[in-house]
This record gives sequence, C-alpha cells and structure tokens, in this order.
Amino acid sequence: MVRLIFLGPPGAGKGTQALVLAQAHSIPHISTGDILRAAVAQKTELGQKAQSYMDKGELVPDQLILDMVRERLGQSDAAQGWILDGFPRTVVQATFLDQLLQEINQSCDGVVNFEVPDEVLVARLLGRGRKDDNEDVIRHRLEVYHQQTAPLIDFYRDRQQLFALDGNQSVDQVREALEQIVQSHSLAT
Ligand code: AMP
Repeated sequence: MVRLIFLGPPGAGKGTQALVLAQAHSIPHISTGDILRAAVAQKTELGQKAQSYMDKGELVPDQLILDMVRERLGQSDAAQGWILDGFPRTVVQATFLDQLLQEINQSCDGVVNFEVPDEVLVARLLGRGRKDDNEDVIRHRLEVYHQQTAPLIDFYRDRQQLFALDGNQSVDQVREALEQIVQSHSLAT
C-alpha cells in the first residue's frame, strides 16, 4: 500500500515520477492537472469553468478542485493506494484533504517535495510546449506556486511528513532517489 503526495513547482518532474511509481505499485496516479485537461477537452461544465484559470496560469478555485478530488478518491481503484500529483496546492486544499482522508478512513504515508531551482524549471517548461507553457504564463505559474503552494512545505514539515527530493537530476537519478526514500522510510507497506 502506498499513499503519497507529490509536492513541488510546475516542471519539477512530479508527473513523470508519479507515473513510474504508480505503475510499479499498481495504484492510480491522480493528477488534478490531467483531470482538468481532460474536462477541458471534453467541454464538461467543470472544464468550461476551469479553462480560463488554466490558460492564465492561475489556480482553479478550491471548491471546484475539492469536489473533483472527493469524487476521484472515492473511486474503487483508489482504495488500493494512490499518488496525488499537483494536489493539494493551497493550505485550504491540504486541510480539506486531511478531513476527507479521515472521513474515508485513510491516511497519507508521506509528502515528497521535489526541489528544483526556478531557472531550471523555466527552461524545462519552455521545452515542454504545452498550451499553458509560454514564458509569461510559466513565470506566472511559478509566482503562484511560491505564493500559494510553497507554504505547504512548512505545513507538512511541521507534521514530520515531508521528504525532500533533489529534482535537479536526470529522470533515472530522481527515480532512484525516490525509490530510496520510499524504501528507507518504509512508505510502501
Ligand atoms: P498541472 O498539470 O498540475 O501543472 O496543472 C495545470 C493547471 O491546472 C494549473 O496551472 C492550474 O490552473 C490547474 N490545477 C491543477 N491542479 C490544481 C489544484 N490542485 N488547484 C488549483 N488548480 C489546479
């Protein structure tokens, strides 16, 4: 059983690593960004409400995200474990997650914080070429990260749930470092 939160700025490699680890443990990789992009593509009500925020690099309002996460964690595959990628992103979301996990009798095993310098992130994101990856929007997403999401580092560190991961390495090196964290702290039980 593995239940982990991947925390870190956009472009830190959370999605890439979440995919690998989730496959290795046969658990869902739950990316709120992926769910939102699918909703936008399908033009659902959620997608229509979320799109303008995403295009600008702003966070989608908490209430929309909270309903979405509640629904996703309630699906049967999530009973076997999960990796949350890109959620929580605000203290309100983290507090909601605490309550939700209590309600559904689950707990989180740890929070892995992907550390990558801003200049490296900008270069990586520019190379990725997603719709919200032009330079102005990238810089704005980093600002939003520092203002609204970075406070979660202390939030989880204070609860001794935080594990630092140097994300400024090759994909393989990050994968090995992540595996090391998971094994040495017995996060997969
Ligand atoms: P990501 O793929 O995680 O970089 O997310 C892409 C975009 O989706 C973000 O820039 C936000 O607009 C939105 N988004 C994803 N996850 C969240 C979240 N937990 N809270 C608010 N907005 C989110």
